[in-house]
Amino acid sequence: MTAIEVDTTRLPLLLTELRLPAIGRMWPDLADRSDREGWPAARLLSALAELEIAERGRRRIERHVLEAHLPPGKTLDSFDFAVVPMISKARLMALAAGDSWLEKGASLLLFGPPGSGKTHCGAALGHALIENGYRVLFARTTDLVQKLQAARQSLQLEAALGKLDKFDLLILDDLSYVHKDQAETSVLFELISARYERRSMLITANQPFGEWNKVFPDPAMTIAAIDRLVHHSMIFEMNVESYRRRAAADRRSPATGATGNDPASNG
Ligand code: ADP
Ligand code: MG
Repeated sequence: MTAIEVDTTRLPLLLTELRLPAIGRMWPDLADRSDREGWPAARLLSALAELEIAERGRRRIERHVLEAHLPPGKTLDSFDFAVVPMISKARLMALAAGDSWLEKGASLLLFGPPGSGKTHCGAALGHALIENGYRVLFARTTDLVQKLQAARQSLQLEAALGKLDKFDLLILDDLSYVHKDQAETSVLFELISARYERRSMLITANQPFGEWNKVFPDPAMTIAAIDRLVHHSMIFEMNVESYRRRAAADRRSPATGATGNDPASNG
């Protein structure tokens, strides 16, 4: 008997019910090919299963990209490591593989003046981790603090912190822009405490710790927050000239081509 005599009218329905959209789309082609080439049934079945799994993986990553809110285009590929000699590409690639530092809930702290590439570097790591199957959330710290404050006002802070647990890495961009006089920032401390030794954070800030007493409500909380963050952390000090300014200068005098390593710019 040939495939044509098989009643396949219910198949699309069954595959939808089973949530197998890739197989639903691809089975007619693959079945044709299998008939033509005389595949053993097991080969067709495993080809279909592989297809569905591959698509499921792709869709999962697509969802993770959407939920991450990472700045688009800020990837490792577009990051010029030559201008930040203190960050080796190999080191960042190793971090992008995830694994042990995310399992330990270790954190990354990126310090440097405006334009030094902190946001780009952090986002690039986020993009790469998502490609590797991890879940990441990127947020401007001020925005997240506001959301957490709103959650606390409606007695939902714990739930809100719990929701952030699903992310292997939480990127808090521009922590030093948070100002305690703007609003009550102890939610930030609670976030840091909640993730401590469990879930990783990547924090960028223009100002190293010295200025953080402007962020937290009181000195004791500042010290406690820094203490937790530093305990399992890697610190990158990106003390380089603003990339924007540098790029503008290069445009004005392209002949000098100041693109290479310039160790003199480091401090
Ligand atoms: P910061 O967050 O430290 O203020 P950004 O990451 O926003 O700096 O960088 C400012 C601009 O310069 C962005 O458009 C960014 O993509 C670009 N940039 C910064 N550093 C680099 C770099 N090393 N390679 C490529 N682009 C960079
Ligand atoms: Mg930035």
